[in-house]
Amino acid sequence: MRIKQVELSVIEQPLKVPFHTSYGTYVQRESIIIKMIEDSGAIGYGEVVAFSEPWYTEETIQTALHVLDLFLIPLILEKDIIHPSEASELFKCFKGHHMAKAGLEGALWDLYSKQQNLSLANALGGSCDAIPVGVVVSLANTEKMIQQIKQYEQEGYERFKVKVDKKRDYEIVSTIREHFPDISLMIDANSAYTIKDIDQLKRLDEFKLLMIEQPFGDREFIEHAELQKEMKTSICLDESIHCIEDVKLAIALGACRIINVKPGRVGGLTESLKIHDLALKHHIPLWVGGMIETGISRVQNIALASLPGFTIPGDISASSRHFEEDIIHPDVQLQNGKVLVPQEAGIGVEVDEERIDRLTKLKRRY
Ligand SMILES: [Mg+2]
Repeated sequence: MRIKQVELSVIEQPLKVPFHTSYGTYVQRESIIIKMIEDSGAIGYGEVVAFSEPWYTEETIQTALHVLDLFLIPLILEKDIIHPSEASELFKCFKGHHMAKAGLEGALWDLYSKQQNLSLANALGGSCDAIPVGVVVSLANTEKMIQQIKQYEQEGYERFKVKVDKKRDYEIVSTIREHFPDISLMIDANSAYTIKDIDQLKRLDEFKLLMIEQPFGDREFIEHAELQKEMKTSICLDESIHCIEDVKLAIALGACRIINVKPGRVGGLTESLKIHDLALKHHIPLWVGGMIETGISRVQNIALASLPGFTIPGDISASSRHFEEDIIHPDVQLQNGKVLVPQEAGIGVEVDEERIDRLTKLKRRY
């Protein structure tokens, strides 16, 4: 593959339901869509999933634009690339900026699998046709959360994740369990707790949660290991895992029993595959996390989740969970609690360029 042009579109889409974070509330989602054109005219698409502000990791839309523009795009333009994994090797000379790197690498994976006439799932090593998926329930008063779960259960979701508020964790989880004694339920703490809260967290053991995701800070491997020793409930790491070395550390310390993989956070699909293989060897179940992304990342995540190590339903909800309209056709839909893995070559869906143009705030061509 010889890349002759890269186009970046910064888009902004309204969210159907506001998204609450430790930073604040989002009603719009900015993203960078990458369109890569190869010498033969073939097109690959990728997406940078960074948020507008650096609350999840240090990256933002603006830092990604800066790094793509000055450092990463010049590394791949007019280069002969046989396999997308070469990109992560090329990018190694620049530290960090995983989401910017993953966006470009994703477009290369799309191009590569189109060239090989393989679906992205097959190119990555996945084989199943459909995957079960989970959904995130927004933090609200408990009555509203119960209503949301009822609705999502009817829609067919198989795993429910609740973002908890440290002050209301017991109240929220116990009320949900009273109404839904058997659903597959987990909580995501997004680092809201500290090691001093071990006793508070241990009280949640009685609710048979599928897992507690990222209770402590992202570098607190030792603290997570201490908690995991004390709790029956599995601890899952999300923000802590930036690369395969973090997985090795977590395994060595016993810091978790489950790992959430987000290709953007770990620098791309190639690193995600390395993590997959290591976790499989150590019997650590994986699931694919979500970043409120557009259909382009959504179908990449579905392809990744079709690999055998991804045994827990991921945060890969239908397009309609977040957006009135997606930028891909067909959009991601739920069928009997599952989403279908696209079978066409590459990401396997059509990208709606007209809609991207309508949503675009800034466009750059290289
Ligand atoms: Mg999380």
